[in-house]
Amino acid sequence: MSILSNFFLEKLRSQKIDLPAVLFSDFDDTYLYKSTYNPKQELLRVEDEKKYLPSLALHSFLVNNKIPLIIVSGRDFFQITKLQSTFTSLFPHLSTIFDFDIFIGAVGTEIWIKNENNTFVECKNYISYIESTFSFKRDELFPVCVKLIDTMQLKFPEAQFRFQKMHEQKLKISFEFESSSHQTSELVKAVHQFFMSSIQEAHPLILSYQHQGNGMNTYNLDLVPCGKDRAVEYVIDSIFSSFGKVICFTAGDAGNDTSMLFNTKSIGIVVSNSKPELVNYVKTLQLMPIRKNFFSFQSKTCYISPNTLSPAQSIQQAIEDYFQK
Ligand SMILES: [Mg+2]
Repeated sequence: MSILSNFFLEKLRSQKIDLPAVLFSDFDDTYLYKSTYNPKQELLRVEDEKKYLPSLALHSFLVNNKIPLIIVSGRDFFQITKLQSTFTSLFPHLSTIFDFDIFIGAVGTEIWIKNENNTFVECKNYISYIESTFSFKRDELFPVCVKLIDTMQLKFPEAQFRFQKMHEQKLKISFEFESSSHQTSELVKAVHQFFMSSIQEAHPLILSYQHQGNGMNTYNLDLVPCGKDRAVEYVIDSIFSSFGKVICFTAGDAGNDTSMLFNTKSIGIVVSNSKPELVNYVKTLQLMPIRKNFFSFQSKTCYISPNTLSPAQSIQQAIEDYFQK
């Protein structure tokens, strides 16, 4: 029996297009545009309501076209649930924005699937898959990370380098640092070198821009067994496998989205107003133009959104344009 709810399967079956489509979307500044506030403080302001309307419009577009929505976030399930409760208490009329079908959290290290009772249940098979595929020994890595912070602070005295304040996540160790933008690549390179000389097995280090303040940029740095691409591929190959071919779109705006946008069997949508680390990465790719905003890259298709729309609008535009070929 499929672990997907009948409601989810019915959505896929009832789409009117040749092949059913599914959207995997990053959350912050992709599906829900905030751009100015610090996501760590969750300062949602009533006067920002207009910013969230494109997300509501995208949600309605997906519902009307029966396209399932899978959120793929750096946040974990606990954090997204907390944000949902703050958001819906401020904007009760926008609460459907948080109506997802599947939630992939903690940069691709957890998958939660909505069941028939509208409750999310963690996919335990995915945890077993990660644990058996990658060796990520948190207990051994953590003391190395403590040493890393001391070393980085000495090497870059003007930067602030620390653990992110959050509950412990089994398959993720997260840092944040504040630095001037010209120093970022040097700092990240030093972190890589430190890990290469301190631990035997290499693990992905994922950089994402967080926010700006006092002339300094704040970045997230996640040490994880795998990135968002693994979780997206797992959902496509293992959870959708019984369903046959599905057209998958992935949408993102930042560094932690790069792997799912460009390394999965999906049409990658680089949304409008994407962060510099993603925009700069895209510039290094040899993209071949296909038609307006669509490019091919190593036998896959991607869509680079113009900056004239909001991120959620650019996702809808990309899906509509794709089916109007
Ligand atoms: Mg984002």
